[in-house]
Amino acid sequence: MKDLAFATITQLQTALENKEISAQELLKYYCERFAQYDTKLGSALEIFDLESIMAMSASKGFLYAIPGLIKDNISQKDRALTCASKILEGYVATYDATAIERLKNAGAFLVGRANLDEFAMGSSTETSAFQKTANPWDLSRVPGGSSGGSIAAVAAGLVPWALGSETGGSVRQPAALCGIVGLKPTYGLISRNGLVAYASSLDQIGIATRSVRDNAMILSVIAGHDTKDSSSLYVDKKDYTTLLDGKLKEGLKIGVLENALHAQGVDPEVREAIEKAIVEYEKMGAIITRIKMPIMEYAAAVYFVLSRAEAASNLARFDGVRYGLRDKNEKTLASMYTGTRHDGFGQEVKARIIMGNYVLSFGHAAEFYNNAKKVQRMMYHEYAQTFKDVDMIISPVTPAPAFKFGAFDENKLQMDLQDYFTCSVNIAGIPAISVPCGFTKNNLPIGFQLIGPHLSEAHLYQAAYAYEQITPWHTMHPEAFK
Ligand code: GLN
Repeated sequence: MKDLAFATITQLQTALENKEISAQELLKYYCERFAQYDTKLGSALEIFDLESIMAMSASKGFLYAIPGLIKDNISQKDRALTCASKILEGYVATYDATAIERLKNAGAFLVGRANLDEFAMGSSTETSAFQKTANPWDLSRVPGGSSGGSIAAVAAGLVPWALGSETGGSVRQPAALCGIVGLKPTYGLISRNGLVAYASSLDQIGIATRSVRDNAMILSVIAGHDTKDSSSLYVDKKDYTTLLDGKLKEGLKIGVLENALHAQGVDPEVREAIEKAIVEYEKMGAIITRIKMPIMEYAAAVYFVLSRAEAASNLARFDGVRYGLRDKNEKTLASMYTGTRHDGFGQEVKARIIMGNYVLSFGHAAEFYNNAKKVQRMMYHEYAQTFKDVDMIISPVTPAPAFKFGAFDENKLQMDLQDYFTCSVNIAGIPAISVPCGFTKNNLPIGFQLIGPHLSEAHLYQAAYAYEQITPWHTMHPEAFK
């Protein structure tokens, strides 16, 4: 089979069925691609040995022998789990996350652990304690983050799919910067059991693929109610590919989020590519209206407060007692706690813990945390209101294409603005999908996102797929990895 590197899941399944390639050969092929290319990309923290990969999956099933990479904040039994942090050094996961269990039962081959920003905190994958991951389209640039390892590997054709996680945009943003498809599902659709918590009320596992259909196939395997996650929705398993016929829903109404697309600071090339995509949708029969959601202006601020507050609480468990690293030189329990946390956490994580404790502290909680929760309600309502008029919303994912390593070293706040267009979706708990829609003159990918009401994943896929069928972006791959 030619072009195995960038084959879709369906193509791989056909090749396996027709015995053009065996499961073992396929796995070997991808593991060799990692060996050959990942030294310059840095997407994986570990690629497992072939035998153990095969031994851990069912020998039959919907995803049999289809290799995928897992962000290293999702628990894989008997594998190291680091969250790209030194504080989890030596920790080995004792159980499979529910999503992992479902993938293994479906026969998928889980080939390794993907790099990420430490504890999924960041937008560039630069805060990983272990290594940097490059953007496959330009190795001097970041892939985005925090799921940068997962996304870069898929974009470079090292695996057909990967799991990431989203708290404020960590799958959609890197997907846009690397030219692939990234889904952030409805809160509660994919079980969080086994996903290391960053900000629990916002966290969801997300899916990275090169095509819309592949994405829907993975979701069909991992979505659905789980008794092990109290925030899991009572949703039955279903096939998310059924609406993928290349057509839009009759009379589909798409709202163009004007105050995002025409916000100050949006790169003209990004704006132009998205305006062109809107024209394509119009040609396919969509009814386009221009909308404004003024509340968006507060999304980044609300996200900043809520995510830090929850992070500070969640990360309190890393105290040197139960997991990973322990400072053995300290004489008292209290100094062992502080010594371990001092040595184990990186700068970004420490800054967020301090900020989170501050916004939750007596005298400040009312001003910051409580107000952020109020604006969260308003945001939720404004989305609900908007979805009475339109079926889905189209908006930029990021204001600009991929940036250079170190671009925001001197201005962390500017880095936080990477979440400006993505985090309102997490705050409202609704789904969104990032779809490639072109390239800049410098050959850097651009994406847009479609945002829909709760549990509209099948409809988002339908609209994204229709666009994908009439555009060439998903067929373009980075030269250095061909
Ligand atoms: N960039 C955001 C942050 O640093 C989003 C992270 C995420 O979605 N995990 O918080």
